[in-house]
Amino acid sequence: MKHDLIIEAIDVVKHFGDGGNWLSKSPVVQAVDGVSLQVRRGETFAIVGESGCGKSTLARVLMRLLSPTSGSVLFDGKEVSTTTGAALQSLRREMQFIFQDPFSSLNPRMTVGKLVGEPLEVHAPELSAQQRREKVADLLRKVGLRAEYAGRYPHEFSGGQRQRIGIARALASGPRLIIGDEPVSALDVSVQAQVINLLGDLSRDMGLTLVVIAHDLGVIRHMSDRVAVMYLGRIVESGTTEEVYTSPRHPYTKALLASIPTMGGKQGDRKATVLGEMPSPSAPPSGCRFHTRCPYAQAKCKTDAPALQGAGTDDHQVACHFWETIPNEAVIAETPQKTEAVEARFALYRNATDGGPVTHLLNQSTKRN
Ligand code: SF4
Repeated sequence: MKHDLIIEAIDVVKHFGDGGNWLSKSPVVQAVDGVSLQVRRGETFAIVGESGCGKSTLARVLMRLLSPTSGSVLFDGKEVSTTTGAALQSLRREMQFIFQDPFSSLNPRMTVGKLVGEPLEVHAPELSAQQRREKVADLLRKVGLRAEYAGRYPHEFSGGQRQRIGIARALASGPRLIIGDEPVSALDVSVQAQVINLLGDLSRDMGLTLVVIAHDLGVIRHMSDRVAVMYLGRIVESGTTEEVYTSPRHPYTKALLASIPTMGGKQGDRKATVLGEMPSPSAPPSGCRFHTRCPYAQAKCKTDAPALQGAGTDDHQVACHFWETIPNEAVIAETPQKTEAVEARFALYRNATDGGPVTHLLNQSTKRN
């Protein structure tokens, strides 16, 4: 089936380092290694995987903040990786980035009004000062903040409010695509669902396309339409969120899903559940890159890299030689107990999908956060 695509990556490779010379070796980090994906207009597309899997590098290549080593990125069917000059400036208006840490991405010496108004000065120079102030007030209201906050500085706000300011700033240029790199992972659990809700509302109301990068499958479950799971620079499974969560095919996806209760918790909790350490991207394993951690690995897995192949439906794809014979039960036998905090988070995520209490929290947050 043909879909209306807004952004497409075709066999994107991004390596860092040149290997050094005969005097000194410097490893080549294979951050992204042959990734192809297609994001449809108006959808929320999530890219998930552990830290170091290459998802943030991929996001920066999609945004044209980094150039790919090889491969193509098409926005509206046009190549972006070689775009420069006025065309690049216009592209910057269409695609915006939301950072993980809202505090470090906002200049502490600028007022909120200046921070949100700055992109307008660049991308809408025809606006008068008064029109710009009105637009800033409108954007602040859109993200659930009061217009009078325009005169305050970032340090006067909570983490949730600062992320709202970051979102208002991203919206200022009228983008069609927003890429969020772990947009809620630096926030308190109780605020995460509010920001997730806000992004969902904005994308629906403004017809935005969202690409969300996350290490926590729990976070994106209720906000994404489709999801791609990355491991060591490659996509190992992709499909609709429903398919990937209810019928995961790749052992790594199964392991990630089994570890949701502790993800977002302490790093030590995760190591105990996600099948040991991820190998270095500067020396990835041969064949299937997951074979050093996979309980189902066979001889072929060490030599032959599996390609993404259909896993039952048009959308669902998996890169595993033996996905059809791998049992459906979780790869990890030992699933940690859910703590009270985790239960609270799940309740918030459920509400984020069902509406109700979170909408109520969102209104409260306008006053508090
Ligand atoms: Fe495991 Fe082999 Fe499948 Fe890789 S290809 S995930 S090593 S079974």
